Amino acid sequence: IAAATGRGAELGILLRGGASLEAAARVDTVLLDKTGTLTTGQPRVTALHVVQGEEVTLLARAAAVESRSEHPVARAIVEAARARGVALPAVEAFEPTHGLGVEGRVEGHVVRLGNAEWLRDAGVSLDGAPAVADGETPVLVAVDGALAGVIAVADTLSPEALPALEALRALGVELVIVSGDREETVASVARQAGITKYFAGVKPAAKARVVRTQSARGHVVAMVGDGVNDAPALAAADVGFAMGEGAEVAVATADIALLRGGLGQLPR
Ligand code: ADP
Ligand code: MG
Repeated sequence: IAAATGRGAELGILLRGGASLEAAARVDTVLLDKTGTLTTGQPRVTALHVVQGEEVTLLARAAAVESRSEHPVARAIVEAARARGVALPAVEAFEPTHGLGVEGRVEGHVVRLGNAEWLRDAGVSLDGAPAVADGETPVLVAVDGALAGVIAVADTLSPEALPALEALRALGVELVIVSGDREETVASVARQAGITKYFAGVKPAAKARVVRTQSARGHVVAMVGDGVNDAPALAAADVGFAMGEGAEVAVATADIALLRGGLGQLPR
């Protein structure tokens, strides 16, 4: 993003070239990421469900692996451990998979955590896994291939979201949520945001495909996101908007970065 001067910089909006601004004027469809775009991006741990072992061990191992990830869900888990004064053991062989989860070796154990697909891929049985509320994201934790617990994480709509969405509707654009999170959680946020159309469980490459499908139907598509997982979709969109506080790769890939005021600046 080029260093901007004048009115754009004053507003905290950075543009990569004038073409993006011209395209922005023709946008009729706005695809929105959920975590960190519609929501605050600062989720909290709301519950810990232990399946096997001690609660403090579960939290310590989960937080140790997540301390290497920049995902908002990871930050919530690390913060929960910190708030309880839990010391984090060392992590080896850390491996993140965007849109699914993370894995690492802690105290001689393989600790893998993330969504249901990520654990099932590793052959972990989720039979009888504790359920979490619809609005919460379950982070399933497996130790050495067996489910050890479920950490419930919840985020809230950002304070700018509702007024921004209302202003966008007044401009006549269609609003669609495209999220990597599970169906129940996305549906709950969609309800709160008053958005009826959403896609859940969408992995990074598939987010870009959703953008292309809308473009192929003749729409002028804006994608708004903040995460590493949003970068392919931001690149594929007619106009990609990144949250200024988002991941570096999201800001670098976007045409327009909303440096201050987040979603509240989008209608402008
Ligand atoms: P979102 O659209 O929610 O920003 P992502 O594509 O980043 O989605 O992630 C999709 C899902 O994968 C998350 O909702 C979460 O369940 C899981 N996930 C991704 N990264 C992590 C992580 N570091 N720790 C635990 N779960 C993760
Ligand atoms: Mg996000």
